[in-house]
Amino acid sequence: MIDLHTHTLFSDGVLLPSELVQRAFCAGYKAIAMTDHMDMSNVDFIVPRIVEASNVLSEYSPLKIIPGAEITHVPPKLIGKLIEKARNLGAKLVIVHGETVVEPVIPGTNRAGIEAGADILSHPGLISIEDSTLAMEKGVALEITARKGHSLSNGHVAKIAMATGATMVINTDSHAPEDLINRERARIILQAAGIPEENIETIFANSKNLVDKAGRN
Ligand SMILES: [Zn+2]
Ligand SMILES: [Zn+2]
Repeated sequence: MIDLHTHTLFSDGVLLPSELVQRAFCAGYKAIAMTDHMDMSNVDFIVPRIVEASNVLSEYSPLKIIPGAEITHVPPKLIGKLIEKARNLGAKLVIVHGETVVEPVIPGTNRAGIEAGADILSHPGLISIEDSTLAMEKGVALEITARKGHSLSNGHVAKIAMATGATMVINTDSHAPEDLINRERARIILQAAGIPEENIETIFANSKNLVDKAGRN
C-alpha cells in the first residue's frame, strides 16, 4: 500500500508522526506521505516539523516517508502562493483539499489547485470535465478516497477522470490508526467507484510514480 494523504496531530489527526509511521509499517505500507491541513497561519510551523520527522524516521524505517502538506479551505487566489511556500519549506508532495461534497469548500478551489500545479487534488467532489481535462494536461492527480463522506463522489470522480484521461490515485485521508487500509481494501474501493480491473494497476502505479517524483525533488 502506498498512501499519499494522511494527517497527524500537527493538524486534526490523532497520532504523532512516529506512531503513524509505525502503524503504517505494521499495516504493510511501503510508502506514506504526511499531509497535514495548512493555511497561511501554520504552514511555516508544520512543514519544517514534518520534514524533520520524515528525515529522521526514514533512517530507522524501511518505509518511504514523504513530508507533505494539504492546503485546506484557503481562498482560491491564495492557493498558488501557499503551495510555493510549502514546497520552499521542504514539502515534497503538496495536496489541495478539493471541493468535497461534504464540506463548504470555496467554489473554484478545484480549478485553483490544478492551475497552481498541486501534486494531488484530494476528494474533488463534483469535478467538471473542464477541470479534469486541465488536470490531465497539468499532470495533477485526482484522488479516489477511502474516507467516509468524501468518498460519496468517488464514482463521479472516476467517471470524469477516465473520460478525460486524468491521472487517479487512491488515498485514505487517515486521521486515526483504524483509517489505514491495505491494498486489497484499496482495490475494492476502486472497484466500487466503477473502475475496471485493467485500470486498477495503473492507479497503483500512479502512486508509485508520485513517490519516485517526491524522492527526486
Ligand atoms: Zn482533517
Ligand atoms: Zn485530508
